[in-house]
Amino acid sequence: MIIRQLNLAIDDNYCFFGNSIFWPMNLIDTHTHLYVEQFDEDQDEVVQSALKQGIERFYIPSIDSAYTQRMHNLRSAYPEQVYLMAGLHPGSVDENYEAELEHVKYRLETETPCAVGEIGIDLYWEQKYQDQQVDAFRQQIRWAKAYKLPIVIHCRAAFDEVFAVLEQENDDQLYGIFHCFTGNSDQAKRAIDLGFYLGIGGVVTFKNAGLDKVIRNVDPQHIVLETDAPYLAPAPKRGKRNESAYLTYIARKLADIWGLPMEEVANITTKNALSVFNHG
Ligand SMILES: [Zn+2]
Repeated sequence: MIIRQLNLAIDDNYCFFGNSIFWPMNLIDTHTHLYVEQFDEDQDEVVQSALKQGIERFYIPSIDSAYTQRMHNLRSAYPEQVYLMAGLHPGSVDENYEAELEHVKYRLETETPCAVGEIGIDLYWEQKYQDQQVDAFRQQIRWAKAYKLPIVIHCRAAFDEVFAVLEQENDDQLYGIFHCFTGNSDQAKRAIDLGFYLGIGGVVTFKNAGLDKVIRNVDPQHIVLETDAPYLAPAPKRGKRNESAYLTYIARKLADIWGLPMEEVANITTKNALSVFNHG
């Protein structure tokens, strides 16, 4: 019976203590796109399955205005667990970016978003709109500071470009999360020195990614957890649609890397997440 309980505990990610009490971890997914088309068929099941795993809050990054209504629908369904950001994703920056920025500004004026995100620079797919991406990033950083909100940074193939803007705009109002951090130790240090948390997701579980070696030397107090669902599912779900419930694989991997009990990883990263979003 004990063995069966223990298996259940491991499978379902429950804590096991000497007095046989089981309870789910309290984890926070700081970056999950639960409103996109990939969840149209089973959004409610996906949220319920994450809640069952102990993921107690979902912080929802914005992409562009096409998704705003979907984001609001999700928040209406889960007002206690879902917190929305406002922002223009660098991948959605094109010649119409100023109209999109107006939409972000309108949301900042009329809603109470938890952060400005996700914003940044992505030169992996497209370099054509680099100047517009830099301009949109800078403008949104300034709004975040004016509203005293954290920023959630998307940075792909653009580390130097992102840092150039951050260093120019840096002051004691600038803070937030470096989402999907996959950089080296120097880059981790630079981000932390600027007052940023590192958002760690599925990539830390990928063999040969090398992120585990970088994160081993980072103090857990600088880390928040994220899935970036539906993208970047962690091992052993790699290649499948990602879900917030899979945050447990990321927490477990970090517990292994740091040699800490999973409960401690959950406690520290949950505290960090509540603190950066001013919900602590
Ligand atoms: Zn994202």
